[in-house]
Amino acid sequence: MRERAFVREVGMRDGLQSLAEIMPTEQKIAWLDAEHAAGVREIEVSSFVPPKLLPQLADAEAVVRHALSLPGLTVSALIPNLKGAERGLAIGVHEINFVLSVSEGHNRANVRRSTTESIEDFRRVVALCHTAPEDQRPRLTCGLATAFGCTIEGAVDEERVRRIAVEVAEAGADAIMLADTVGYGQPAAVERVFRRVMADVAPLPVCGHFHDTRGLGLANVLAALNAGARSFDASLGGLGGCPYAPGATGNIVIEDLVFMLGAMGFDTGIDLDRLVEVRELVHQALPDVVQYGAIVKAGLPKNFHAMQAAQAAQ
Ligand code: ZN
Repeated sequence: MRERAFVREVGMRDGLQSLAEIMPTEQKIAWLDAEHAAGVREIEVSSFVPPKLLPQLADAEAVVRHALSLPGLTVSALIPNLKGAERGLAIGVHEINFVLSVSEGHNRANVRRSTTESIEDFRRVVALCHTAPEDQRPRLTCGLATAFGCTIEGAVDEERVRRIAVEVAEAGADAIMLADTVGYGQPAAVERVFRRVMADVAPLPVCGHFHDTRGLGLANVLAALNAGARSFDASLGGLGGCPYAPGATGNIVIEDLVFMLGAMGFDTGIDLDRLVEVRELVHQALPDVVQYGAIVKAGLPKNFHAMQAAQAAQ
């Protein structure tokens, strides 16, 4: 039996939110269906932000409603505030992701409040979710953005990351997400911070959200794996950077992540050939957006599928 690793698609939120070109709802739904058919079982489908602020995600309810109809899919949505949590709760998402930045400067630039104020907001989100009956309560993940560095403040103090992780864990988070929002993370720091935070908040799971901005995305996944993390975010074709600046890659490429985990002997439940096919569908919807990825260019190693089958049978 292979050990399970969890891969969550975030391109529909983290990727699309940076695009000016609006992807029609039907195409988002086709993308959802195709990834679900490829075996992806966790998708961050949208963000409950004010539609005027982010027209790209103004169809959040419609896309989430469709996602909720797909069997076995864990549907998650990002929520920036209490109002977003109310929308997520009303529609019945399985997972709510609240994000705050460890870096004070980044948090202020993003949501115009201090990190401490955002932690207070998170407490209100927890309280709201706890008004729902236990069997209808969404899983609450608190994401710590800029956990490995910040474009405004530079280095981020690791002790501050740990303190905030413990604070949101005690406030009622079901999982912690450490996010390298701007691609400053490097493997030695990632492994160290994951080990410490995982020990601090155990038994809560700690998930990894890495960007490949400086080419260290998968190296950082490996570092977090070594620390014991088993859940990672990624996006199709690495969608999520600045799409019109070649080289400015965004999230780690989900196809390459699924390849790496599979090659290392982990079971992700995802059919890599079918996942790669989804790229064409997204390319048709967003023809000007650059898609990244090594596996799609080089192909799978000879005997890859046979090796996978042999590992599964062991
Ligand atoms: Zn991100």
